[in-house]
Parts: sequence; structure tokens; C-alpha cells
Amino acid sequence: MDCNFRIGSGFDVHRLVEGRDLWLCGLRIDHHLGLLGHSDADVAIHALCDALLGALALGDIGKLFPDSDPRYKGIDSKILLSHVVAEVHRMGWKIGNADITILAERPKLRPHIDRMRDCLAELLDIPADRTSVKATTTEGLGYTGRQEGIAAQASVLIYR
Ligand code: MG
Repeated sequence: MDCNFRIGSGFDVHRLVEGRDLWLCGLRIDHHLGLLGHSDADVAIHALCDALLGALALGDIGKLFPDSDPRYKGIDSKILLSHVVAEVHRMGWKIGNADITILAERPKLRPHIDRMRDCLAELLDIPADRTSVKATTTEGLGYTGRQEGIAAQASVLIYR
């Protein structure tokens, strides 16, 4: 039987280092550390891409955009998300909603949440009220708590 709804989940982690800009949900966030990666290392967008690709059962972002490919070096992750969204549409699906949780001890992300939602909503081509971004600390515990990295998880619904 055909199914007209699919969910997807994504998870990603990047290491925090000196000398890099911090990009989250398509925005550059003022901070003394940034995320290390082949692209701009926007961990939240990567988790979101993986959620969409998961819903389509198309693998993951590393399969579509290999970090061995020089074309993707330093690339703005918004471009990667645009490609993934185009693929969702090309396969005849629409995006219902997205829900992202960022796990970071620092910086405080609350002041940026609304702009993050607006940025992602535009890229996903859905209203901001169907685009959720949440942030939590891990109470000082683990690699996120020690500020060695930032993690993000995402869930999406697609439908047709
Ligand atoms: Mg990544």
C-alpha cells in the first residue's frame, strides 16, 4: 500500500575550534569558537538535510556531498539544504514541518532562535510556524557540556 506521509530524523556533531566562524541554521553567530568541517560545518542544517534525506531513504548528506569533493570545501550549508529541498520536491513530496534541537553549552542561542526559524523556513519553502528550532545545554555533561562540540538533531514530516 502506498504511504502519503513519511518522517525522517537526522543527527550531526561538529567539533568546536578556534579560528572558525560559528554557523547555525544558516546564520553566523558571534562566538570565540567555530565548528570545524569541510563545509561551513553548520551542524543544524546538516541534521536537517539528513532528516529530509532519511524521509526519502536516499542515504545521508555525506553520500550526496562527499567531503572528499573539493567543490564542497567551505561551502555554505544553505546551498546543500537547497539541493536537498529541490530533491524532495522533484520526487513529488512536500515538507510538512521541521523540528530541530541544537545541543550547545555556549553560546546562548535563545536570542537567535526567531531569525534561525525564518532563515530555515525560507529555505524549506514552508511558513515559520511549521519550522521549529530549539536549543538546550547538556548541563555541563559530555562533549557538548565541555564545549568540545555542538550537536544537532532534526525531525521532519513530508507528505504528498
Ligand atoms: Mg556535518
